[in-house]
Amino acid sequence: MREIVEGVYFIQGQDELIPDSHVYLIGDRGSGDFSIVDAGLMGKGGYKLGAIEGLGISLKDVKRVIMTHTHLDHIGCFPEIREQIPGVELWIHEVEARALERGDERILYGMDMFRTMCEQQFGLRPGDFSFKVDRHLGDGESVQLGNMVWKIFHVPGHSPGSIALYNTDNKILIPGDVVYADYAIGRFDLHGANGHQLKNSLMRLAELDVEVLLPGHNSIVEKVPPGYILDTARQWAPYLV
Ligand SMILES: [Zn+2]
Ligand SMILES: [Zn+2]
Repeated sequence: MREIVEGVYFIQGQDELIPDSHVYLIGDRGSGDFSIVDAGLMGKGGYKLGAIEGLGISLKDVKRVIMTHTHLDHIGCFPEIREQIPGVELWIHEVEARALERGDERILYGMDMFRTMCEQQFGLRPGDFSFKVDRHLGDGESVQLGNMVWKIFHVPGHSPGSIALYNTDNKILIPGDVVYADYAIGRFDLHGANGHQLKNSLMRLAELDVEVLLPGHNSIVEKVPPGYILDTARQWAPYLV
């Protein structure tokens, strides 16, 4: 757990055989209103909530979980979080919210082979992630999280309802699995993924002035070089057709 800028905390994922997404906690102590961005893999909720409590923040003040997208490595431990914070809301882009609400878990698992493996390894069953989503997010919305305003960008390609959150004041981008450190991008071969859309999404994010990049996995970047996302998009463009 580390405070990246005032009111934005980084809780590192604990990868094992399957990756576990990072969690970002947004909120300042004065506001009594905290948001969790992404949750993580099954079994990876407890230590993250423990880290939040370790800051002296009451879990009652965590009001919502916002998913950058609904892959299992991001949403798998949401049930654990809801168990510990009963009233916590779930906010997801409308495309993936609707899929979950109708019990369609194809995006969540990404591919059948992975689903079979998870059912065997974790005892998961169809319908385990059929959540009612409290807020369906859309492109261009601004959301007030504590004392900060974040703009929502719909950035499909890695998954159909991926979103990025951008805070203009601090030039922080939380892109989920769309773009990472080291000129890496999210995979685009899973159910609902689309390389061409991913290229367009990268080009959109490239227009933002980003100083701090907080992706779903691997390193975070606290001094993003100018043109970083555009350079990344250009490197990958031949593959994103
Ligand atoms: Zn993903
Ligand atoms: Zn991920």
